[in-house]
Amino acid sequence: MYKKENSIVFHNGEFINANDVLINPYSQSLHYGNGIFEGIRSYKTVNGARIFKAQEHYERLCYGAKAMHIPINYSVEELVDITYRLLKKNNFEDAYIRPLVTTGADMSLLSSKESFLTIQCWEWGKYMGDKLLKVKTSQYQRPNPKSCIVDAKVTGHYTNSILATNEAKNAGYDEALLLDMNGYVAECSGANVFIEKNDILYTPPKGNIMPGITRQTVMDICKEEGIEVVEKYFTLDELKKADNAFFTGTAAEVVGLQSIDDYQFPKKWETTHGYNLMHLYKNEVLETRKTNAPI
Ligand code: PMP
Repeated sequence: MYKKENSIVFHNGEFINANDVLINPYSQSLHYGNGIFEGIRSYKTVNGARIFKAQEHYERLCYGAKAMHIPINYSVEELVDITYRLLKKNNFEDAYIRPLVTTGADMSLLSSKESFLTIQCWEWGKYMGDKLLKVKTSQYQRPNPKSCIVDAKVTGHYTNSILATNEAKNAGYDEALLLDMNGYVAECSGANVFIEKNDILYTPPKGNIMPGITRQTVMDICKEEGIEVVEKYFTLDELKKADNAFFTGTAAEVVGLQSIDDYQFPKKWETTHGYNLMHLYKNEVLETRKTNAPI
């Protein structure tokens, strides 16, 4: 699905065929998960191919690298420019883009001084699909922010997401919902969560979550559309009294929930803020949303 015969990737300063990428088996990223990645989308908009929030994604990549003491030898502007060139070389407009910064050969537990940038892209539909999701509360918590940089996309952090997703899928559910170390609702394995109760949206605050760029975009749209959003901690019991709920993420976009464990959300999806936001978000990324100013 990801790699075709003629797929081009950007690897160590060059655009090369994906089959020619050599991975260093001594890389610290493979052994210890010390690498940084991003998940970005480009869309075929009315104004041509546009990478949605490219700047914000690459700023987050650089933030994560800095936090993990991994050097990045490119500016945000250069990274955006390389990515547009990569899309052209692959003839893509609608694409999912995956930049990955790996570290050099180093078996010590000090961040390697060497780093390598690879950017891949492929055509990818909505990650969690379009149908409403049956979600299971995970036995795994989100990582404690006192044990890692929870708002950085460090490759090693994603073993937590993999554990939770395996657990949910093996039990017949579509996705996992994880709590934070205090027992409050945190997020999905790869997306943020919002609930709707009495016409107001609630989402966990920054601190114990990966605060997504889609989450922020949705909150910005809500502000413009007059939809009230409150950032606050809430419990699983509160979630199970909500009228409705949805996830947000670059790969997933905006996707509704059907149920959490045995609780079915009572409000019909088509009548919720989440449903409206799913369409507003699509219009935003396609640059067809009627607003006074881009957000
Ligand atoms: N939470 C987690 C754990 C994620 O991996 C992601 C995907 N980056 C998100 C939330 C959503 O972030 P974004 O909207 O920036 O894609």
